[in-house]
Amino acid sequence: MNQENCPAVGIDLGTTYSAVAYIDDTGRPVTLVNSEGDLVTPSVVLFESDMAVVGKEALKAIATEAEHVAQCAKRELGERAFHKVLGGRAYPPETLQALVLNKVRRDASRHLGDFKKVVITVPAYFDEVRRKATQDAGYMAGFEVLDIINEPTAAAIAHGFHKGFLNRKGAADMPQKLLVYDLGGGTFDVTVMEIMGHEFCALATDGDVQLGGHDWDQRLVNYVAEEFKKTHNLDPREDPNANGRLWRECEDAKRTLSARTKVSISCDYKGLAMRVEVTREKFEELTQDLLDRTKFTTRQTLQAAGLSWSDIDYVLMVGGSTRMPMVAKMLRDLSGQEPDASVSVDEAVAHGAALHASVILAHERGEISAINVKNVNSHSLGVVASDPRTNRRRNAILIPRNTALPVTAKRVFRTQKPNQKSILVQIVEGESANPDDCSQIGKCVVRDLPVGLPEQTPIEVRFAYQENGRLTVHVNVAGTNAELKHEITRDNSMTTEQLDAWRLYITGQQGDDSHVGSSDDTMTVDEL
Ligand code: ADP
Ligand code: MG
Repeated sequence: MNQENCPAVGIDLGTTYSAVAYIDDTGRPVTLVNSEGDLVTPSVVLFESDMAVVGKEALKAIATEAEHVAQCAKRELGERAFHKVLGGRAYPPETLQALVLNKVRRDASRHLGDFKKVVITVPAYFDEVRRKATQDAGYMAGFEVLDIINEPTAAAIAHGFHKGFLNRKGAADMPQKLLVYDLGGGTFDVTVMEIMGHEFCALATDGDVQLGGHDWDQRLVNYVAEEFKKTHNLDPREDPNANGRLWRECEDAKRTLSARTKVSISCDYKGLAMRVEVTREKFEELTQDLLDRTKFTTRQTLQAAGLSWSDIDYVLMVGGSTRMPMVAKMLRDLSGQEPDASVSVDEAVAHGAALHASVILAHERGEISAINVKNVNSHSLGVVASDPRTNRRRNAILIPRNTALPVTAKRVFRTQKPNQKSILVQIVEGESANPDDCSQIGKCVVRDLPVGLPEQTPIEVRFAYQENGRLTVHVNVAGTNAELKHEITRDNSMTTEQLDAWRLYITGQQGDDSHVGSSDDTMTVDEL
């Protein structure tokens, strides 16, 4: 296929649902329906003998074959293997994501013909490891990943296009500040951004990886199960299939409660059945604390961006769970303005990704200049140092969260004892002062220090953190030639051979060289 008719495709690879959009002949983003005729595809995989079934059928199987179903693999990206063994096999989470992407690719190619190039979105708080895992998933699904962009950025692009303040070349004529509130199935995140010309600049971002529509479902499940217990003295949650069935009933009831004020939920277990009536008011009472957590984070993020509500031009609602009336009401009360859902909350992210893909492709053809996306780091980066007063190990932060990228930062430490022979620099990511609560992202050692180095010799540690999330660490020991440059690549990624083997298994396609930057299994240390 030549570049001229290479379609611009964007994929929202969600924790619970995925969507794909492309740019039609008139330049508008259009969501593609899948082979079941739906706009969104459940990111759920069922393993049936040797087959992987993805989407609606897999979701239904939760009620009958729960032990063979993989859900929410996105939450586990970065881990070596998914928590559940499926068909006797431990799957790395990115391979489960790849199976979802492969279905999306096959369904989309029914409309678009064969295509390879896509933009895939990730949450703003994803670290480099999880971005890379997503890129790998794209490769294993037979794609060439043009770019990985943040979901709130994509939503902002779609919104800007829809509102007409982005022109055809993807540039805003007037500066705009947006707050994107995204409540999906398994995660919540909020991002404050500024759009100026071609620049999409994230000012602050925060979120909760363990908070989403699922938690609202679970509250209903618990409520109904307790009522069932009161009547029948049995708990349907004991059995995975009964629990799965009840969960599907409750998820459905939750959607009904977004449109109506009352619903009746049926529950059956061990031949006993009952119906439980739930009002919207009751549902909101059962879940108020969950909503309050999102409110708290939203307020904090606005503060972290150094803004107040009057600075915000739009409050965007994204994600299926923002359909619950309690969300819009909370945002209205909090911000004093009407939250905006003019681009469908399920489609905005995929639309923005497709628009971004079209700008990249046009840029590749030399037609226009690219959109410039500026990110912030979503987690603090520091090194493990020991506090001389308490002798305790501490996380000494060099780059605080929400710093605009690229950035360089330095901090001076000191050797601990006289005649120290080597220095261990352990790099951690996280907010806690206790390094054990942070994630260890790499370490390096400066060896062969000169003999007789006095105690308290200054050690300068410098971090250079790029927009693609790659971190370079420089260590310099004062008065010596000891110096070290160290690039952090991920510890946990698959090798090119493994990726190619999975790609063949999932798509039947041989590997190609579209996958630049697949990293080694180990970190590299260059001693200068
Ligand atoms: P993600 O991006 O995390 O995969 P989505 O944005 O697709 O998630 O949102 C999925 C969530 O939205 C699910 O928990 C689903 O139950 C919920 N949802 C979808 N429609 C509605 C609705 N009408 N009312 C309430 N919740 C809904
Ligand atoms: Mg989403």
